[in-house]
Amino acid sequence: QKADGENLRSPICCIMGHVDTGKTKLLDCIRGTNVQEGEAGGITQQIGATYFPAENLRDRSRELKADVKLKVPGLLVIDTPGHESFTNLRSRGSGLCDIAILVVDIMHGLEPQTIESLNLLRMRNTEFIVALNKVDRLYGWNTCRNAPITKAMKQQSQDVQNEFKRRLIQVTTQFKEQGLNTEVYYDNKEIGKTINIVPTSAVSGEGIPDLLLLLAQWSPKTMVEKLTYSNVVQCTVLEVKGLEGYGTTIDVVLVNGVLHVGDQIVVCGMQGPIVTTIRVLLTPHPMKELRVKGACLHHKEIKGAQSIKIAAQSLEHAIAGTGLYVVGPNDDLEVVKESAMEDMNSVMSRTDKSGEGVYVQASTLGSLEALLEFLKTPAVNIPVSGIGIGPVHKKDVVWASAMLNKKKEYATILAFDVNVKAEARELADEKGVKIFIADIIYHLFDQFKAYIGTLKE
Ligand code: GDP
Ligand code: MG
Repeated sequence: QKADGENLRSPICCIMGHVDTGKTKLLDCIRGTNVQEGEAGGITQQIGATYFPAENLRDRSRELKADVKLKVPGLLVIDTPGHESFTNLRSRGSGLCDIAILVVDIMHGLEPQTIESLNLLRMRNTEFIVALNKVDRLYGWNTCRNAPITKAMKQQSQDVQNEFKRRLIQVTTQFKEQGLNTEVYYDNKEIGKTINIVPTSAVSGEGIPDLLLLLAQWSPKTMVEKLTYSNVVQCTVLEVKGLEGYGTTIDVVLVNGVLHVGDQIVVCGMQGPIVTTIRVLLTPHPMKELRVKGACLHHKEIKGAQSIKIAAQSLEHAIAGTGLYVVGPNDDLEVVKESAMEDMNSVMSRTDKSGEGVYVQASTLGSLEALLEFLKTPAVNIPVSGIGIGPVHKKDVVWASAMLNKKKEYATILAFDVNVKAEARELADEKGVKIFIADIIYHLFDQFKAYIGTLKE
C-alpha cells in the first residue's frame, strides 16, 4: 500500500510518567468521565484503552483552530500504570505505540519514573509530547475551565505568570540534563527537533484542547508511513483476564488488519503456542474504557486500530505482551506457531549461559524484557539465571534455591510488579531464598545492592 496520507489508521497513544503526576486524571479529563476516583487509592490497577473518534477531537479543539483537518479516523489512547502497557505494546522487537504523552508534575519536575519512561521512549524511538500537568496548583491560579492554555495564561496575574515561567525553565533545564531539547509548544520553532511541552490541568481542563489538537494533528504529518493502514494483522495481547460468562479472555490492541469471529488464531503461552478460534469479539461503547463495567458491543469483524476483548477457548496461559497471529487459508500452522513463540523465545534466551545468576519474575513479557535490559546495563550488571512471568509460585522459589550452593547472593528473586503466593513466601523463608518486590525497576537494584552489602559484612 502507498503511504499517500489517504488511508490512515488511528494512532495509538500511551500515557507515561511518574506516579501521581496525573496520568489517570488526565485521561479522565480528556474522556470526560471519572475512572480515577473509582480506583483503589487512585492507583491504576489495570490496563484500559479509550477510542476517541476524530469528531470528538475536532469539537474540543475548535476554540484553538476553527477548521481542523484530521486525516486519522481517531485516536486510541492506552491508560498505563507506570510504563507497563508501553513495554507491552510491542511486536517483533519494536514498539507499537505511535505517540506518547509524558506527564510531568509542574510542582515536582522530572522524577525517577519520568526518567525511566524517557529511557524507554528513546529505546523504542517513540515520539512524545510532554504534558506539564497541575498548572492549577500554581499559587493564585485563576481557573479557566477547559480553555486553551494561552488564553488561560492571559487571565493570570503577573505573579502566577512569573512562577509558571520559572518552573517551565526548571523543567526544560532538567530535560536538557537528560540530553533533550524541549520548549513550550506555542514558542517551539523547531517542531520535530524540539519536543513540545503543553501545560495542562487535569482538574480544570486548561491546555487539554491544545494537547488533543497536537496529538491528532501532529502525528500524521510526521508518521504517515507508520500510520498507513495495512491489512496484515498486527495485534498484541495487553492483558489476560477472566470475564463472567466468557471464561478467560484477552484484551488486545489490533493495530492493523481485520479480525473475524471464527478466525483461527495463535497466541504465545507459558507452555507453548496456543491455537484457538475467536468465539466473541467485544468492544466497549465509544468513549467508554475497556475496563469500566457495562454493556459491550459484539462484532462479527473488527478493523484496526482498535482495542478489543477476545473470548476463545484455552486462553488461560496466554502471556500478556506477546503478538497474536491469525492463521490464514494459505498459512502453515507450524510456521505461525513458531512466529507466535518468537518474542518469548528471544527474551528467554537472554539468561546467563553460565547458569549462575538471580531469578527474575515480571508481570508481562514486555516488563520482563525491560527489566532484563536494565539488569544488563554495565552500571548494574546483575546476571540472570532464570525468568518467569506472572505471580511468584513455589516452583520459582525452588528454582532460585538451586543457587544456594553455588552463589548465595544469587538465591534471590527480583519480582517486578507481581504478587508472591503465600506458599512461595513460606518456602522462601524456610530455604533462605530472598524475594525483593518493587514496581519501579531500579528499586529492585537498590534492594539487591543493599542485600549484597549486608552479606559482605
Ligand atoms: P497517576 O498516578 O499519574 O495516574 O495520577 P492520578 O491521576 O491518580 O493523580 C494523582 C493525584 O493528583 C490525584 O489526587 C489527582 O486528583 C491529582 N491531580 C491529577 N492531575 C491534577 C491536576 O492537574 N491538578 C491538580 N490540582 N491535581 C491533579
Ligand atoms: Mg493512574
